[in-house]
Amino acid sequence: MLFRGGLMTRTLTQSELESFPSLEWSDLALRVSPHSRTALEQVMETLDGGMLTREQYSLLANADGDDLLGLLVAADALRRELAGNIVTYVVNRNINFTNVCFVGCKFCAFSRGPREADTYFLSLEQVAQKATEAWNIGATEVCIQGGLPHGLPPFHYRDILRAVKQAVPGMHIHAFSPMEIVYGVELTGMPLEDYLLMLRDNGLDTLPGTAAEILDDDVRFVLSRNKLSTEQWKQVIRTAHACGIRSTSTLMYGHVESPEHWVNQLLLFREIQQQTGGFTEFVPLGFVHQNTLLFHQGIARSGPTLAEHLKIHALARVFLAGAINNIQVSWVKLNRNLSQLCLHAGANDYGGTLMEENISREAGATAGQYTSPQDFQALILEAGRIPAERNTVYTRINLKLPTEPLTAEQLLEPEFA
Ligand code: SF4
Repeated sequence: MLFRGGLMTRTLTQSELESFPSLEWSDLALRVSPHSRTALEQVMETLDGGMLTREQYSLLANADGDDLLGLLVAADALRRELAGNIVTYVVNRNINFTNVCFVGCKFCAFSRGPREADTYFLSLEQVAQKATEAWNIGATEVCIQGGLPHGLPPFHYRDILRAVKQAVPGMHIHAFSPMEIVYGVELTGMPLEDYLLMLRDNGLDTLPGTAAEILDDDVRFVLSRNKLSTEQWKQVIRTAHACGIRSTSTLMYGHVESPEHWVNQLLLFREIQQQTGGFTEFVPLGFVHQNTLLFHQGIARSGPTLAEHLKIHALARVFLAGAINNIQVSWVKLNRNLSQLCLHAGANDYGGTLMEENISREAGATAGQYTSPQDFQALILEAGRIPAERNTVYTRINLKLPTEPLTAEQLLEPEFA
């Protein structure tokens, strides 16, 4: 039992947390503390997460007990209003073209030094071949990222784009983290904007908003002192958006960060979105600790708790309401049940099929390397929602209607009413 602001709060048990989808806001409203209730009701009424005060954001980010249940249920209600009952996914393939990297992030178990035994470097032809295979089985996107090896040919990222577009002109290329963009700028000596425009003109469609982790330089110094700075990350993203290259936004949680870092980062994404409109979605990425230095050196906690997994998805839905509409569940970091629970805590997208997920698996995740479209459809239907395949930027959504008749509740949803 904890005392916060004169009120008693308690840590929820696992079964209390897991049963939150059966609750309605009307069941909980009177149990939620007055300040949290006011904040949540303000956002539910206005559908605008931007109208809360800094104190209200902090209060919600630290919610526990009934306040946390209230946050989860309110986020689900907001999701219903803002994104309907459809859960989307994209048929894509991950291509991690090399695992050689000099950056040395302490949370990364994927990278290898150049002299380690199990290094690899895919040729341009191999990357193009993987994209072709993916296209032939229905993928609409390839997600290309890799380690940063010393001595990479200066125009290698451009050449990857050319190779893929030449092999499969219709494939959407979602590629290169802001860290890779900074490296490409360094390798070529080109100004950032010119470099991004060159990539765009050679086939770069969208950018993964990865390498964000926690956008706070003190935390970044602990996680990876060689990584790009917060300022550089923001500069790459803002410039990409200005060049017409949209991106995702991400946050890695469950290591050394605090709820205040979540608040700062979500508000930063709100601000950037209002300026550029360039974010397609927000993706919370749970820290997978098992095989990482960060955990083994005793620096980080052992990944997120169940409460943290649910809370970050719910906070994102509430804080980003009216700014970023798509909140993604990163299934590779979560098990089947947990990913479905996150769909009830504000999320409306399941991410990609991936086909060849390597990075989380090497860190110790056990969710697998591939979720087929059929698996996604089954998971989404089991969660009581409607599956739909989307493209990367959510402009094409194809419903995958169940063979079973829709329930009365589903038929009342806006997209079927
Ligand atoms: S996270 Fe990326 S940049 Fe960092 S060590 Fe791993 S591969 Fe290299």
